[in-house]
Amino acid sequence: MARITPRKGLLNITPYKAGDAKIDGFDRVIKLASNESPLGPSPKAVEAIKNRTDSGLQLYPDPTCRELRQAIGEIHGLKPEQIICSAGSEELLHLLAKGYATDGDEVIYCQYGFIAYPITIYAAGATPVMVQEDNFTANVGAILAAVTPKTKIVNLANPNNPTGTYLAKSEVARLRQGLRDDILLVLDAAYAEYVAQDDYDAGFDLVDNGMENTIVTRTFSKIYGLAGLRVGWAYGPKSVLDILHRIRGTFNVGTLSQAAAIAAVRDVDHVAKAKAHNSKWMPIMSQTLENLGMTVTASQGNFILVHFAGGPDQATAADQYLRSKGIIVRPVGNYDLAGALRITLGTDCENEALCAAMSSFFS
Ligand SMILES: *Cc1c(COP(=O)(O)O)cnc(C)c1O
Repeated sequence: MARITPRKGLLNITPYKAGDAKIDGFDRVIKLASNESPLGPSPKAVEAIKNRTDSGLQLYPDPTCRELRQAIGEIHGLKPEQIICSAGSEELLHLLAKGYATDGDEVIYCQYGFIAYPITIYAAGATPVMVQEDNFTANVGAILAAVTPKTKIVNLANPNNPTGTYLAKSEVARLRQGLRDDILLVLDAAYAEYVAQDDYDAGFDLVDNGMENTIVTRTFSKIYGLAGLRVGWAYGPKSVLDILHRIRGTFNVGTLSQAAAIAAVRDVDHVAKAKAHNSKWMPIMSQTLENLGMTVTASQGNFILVHFAGGPDQATAADQYLRSKGIIVRPVGNYDLAGALRITLGTDCENEALCAAMSSFFS
């Protein structure tokens, strides 16, 4: 009997497993599993949504996100015509893979790189090529060595999730310089706003270098606290944006999402507050957990990768123990990091609860 069959490669995809949001028996949990903002969105973004719900929801949203691109352009000093908006930046990662790689093409990503990359690559029908990292950090030399005549795209999360490590501006420039001009470099800067290193740069300059082969993706899901609204954007060459526009969903960013994102991007004080909160807790959390015997990978994001001396068994036991206290963190066995947990920095109270629970786990 003839059967319908999915496209080649799709069954290689391990479906994405989101961080849990509930624990049986708990009315409320402390969720430190998905790198969401503990401060939530700007009150101005919430206000903007309320103002929009009164009328107009029967109408399709602006398919070009004109006002939102204008606002992003103003705040970041970018040309609105080189900005594209999307339903979360993950949509852009899919569109880029689909737009520039197909059967037989290779797409490079890093060993502990964001788990969405292999999914987008298989979904496009292309072949993922995973490159070894060095001390949980992307290795430019190794990436360049992995390039073949079939390479079409290199994906780099900078800073990366789940490791929190980053590459300096000079390293990213060296990567771009070492890649052939006909290889698209996708710089995923979902955590750019959190970075406090002078030598970091999200990569807008590389987009402007004239070769039309670099794009930078950004998101409203992390520091802006709007993960529930699904808004991402990218700054890229017009020629690449033209391809993305051809294949994206026409009305991919909803009316309320656009309204909230416009207010959120303009509220630079709220972003600064969220960054300050993160910068305050990053050393405290890292030090507290290291004092308990864990190894913490230095992170530029709003989360830390915590390695257990006792390996996968201990990491699993710690995860279970935290759950018994109503705290959800992220196991990262799907990244081949079963001996570690990824912990998102939360509110003051949540961070204190996490540290207290870890302390009692080890006592
Ligand atoms: C969270 C995250 C994203 C953003 O996803 P959205 O679809 O914008 O919510 C992109 N890249 C990385 C590395 C992330 O961690």
